[in-house]
Amino acid sequence: MLNENILNLLKEKGKIEYPDGIHEDIILYPNEPMKNHTTFHIGGNADCFCEVKNCLTLRHVISLCKENNIPCFIIGLGSNLLVSDSGFRGIVIKLSGDFTEIRVSSDHIICGAGCSLAGLCVAARKHSLSGLEFAWGIPGSVGGATYMNAGAYGGEMKDVVFWAKFMDRDGNIHEYEKDQLDFGYRHSVFTDTDNIILEVGFELKKENPEIISYRMQELMNKRKAKQPVNHYSAGSVFKRPKEDIYAAALIEECGLKGYSVGGAEVSTKHSGFIVNDRNATAEDVKQLIDHIQKTVLEQKGIELCCEIKFVG
Ligand SMILES: Cc1cc2nc3c(=O)[nH]c(=O)nc-3n(C[C@H](O)[C@H](O)[C@H](O)COP(=O)(O)OP(=O)(O)OC[C@H]3O[C@@H](n4cnc5c(N)ncnc54)[C@H](O)[C@@H]3O)c2cc1C
Repeated sequence: MLNENILNLLKEKGKIEYPDGIHEDIILYPNEPMKNHTTFHIGGNADCFCEVKNCLTLRHVISLCKENNIPCFIIGLGSNLLVSDSGFRGIVIKLSGDFTEIRVSSDHIICGAGCSLAGLCVAARKHSLSGLEFAWGIPGSVGGATYMNAGAYGGEMKDVVFWAKFMDRDGNIHEYEKDQLDFGYRHSVFTDTDNIILEVGFELKKENPEIISYRMQELMNKRKAKQPVNHYSAGSVFKRPKEDIYAAALIEECGLKGYSVGGAEVSTKHSGFIVNDRNATAEDVKQLIDHIQKTVLEQKGIELCCEIKFVG
């Protein structure tokens, strides 16, 4: 539990004076169930979940956390997370407001990290800009996708991102150019730090919007045919162990398709996904992950590493 004092301080620091009056640039949700903010629909309470609407407020919040030794976690759209059943002792920050803005000029887009990939894809299509079709259907935010170097069907964030602006935990703002972003398979320069991505620059190509729409629809159809998109999940749980070896194939060959622990089940549609079918707990999912890793190691001699991130 965060004490009242900290909650009041947070609230005060979120009040910013503008020419037209005082705005509340922070929204606080004390004791917020994290299952409401993850696509797994799993996770106990965070001491405080807060939506932060601009850089000034974000700086205030992270400095307050630092001064008071309060852990703070940046969440995107929670589509790659398993939050523990006991929740998160500290503050979970979600970027909203200014962080969801999209600016387009000729073949460039500058997008706030809190914007959804879906919103970005729609804006790109509207302005006849191609390159982001691969991201249509990935249910993450621009910040989360840049952090993870999200990718699908031959495309990755690294193909289209050309710079990123971020805040360090002292509140200073910096920029990385493309060659500093250190993109790799589900990895970026941000993966190993606690820097906060604020804004991302994209370089795209002019294209007929009908062709862009066609590509987006085609990829969405493939996704719907192969993935359990109507179930709660966090996408592929494991990374590909090697370029041409898929975790899903190994799991299936080990006879684990449909295997379940409590309410968590290896999807019968895509063995790389674990679905929360029957009010699974984080503990159910963890035990299932352990069982899969152990079985694949025993039967195939291959170690599966998790793509999803564990919180709390
Ligand atoms: C049905 C389904 C399909 C999926 N398909 C794909 C796919 O095809 N390809 C793929 O790559 N992924 C896929 N995923 C996984 C997921 O959508 C991606 O990893 C996505 O990029 C995560 O973004 P997010 O905003 O949800 O991040 P979150 O899950 O909220 O967070 C992931 C990590 O990013 C960090 N993070 C988030 N925002 C910021 C920020 N602003 N600054 C710093 N760090 C930040 C978090 O701290 C956390 O460590 C899928 C998931 C689901 C549920």
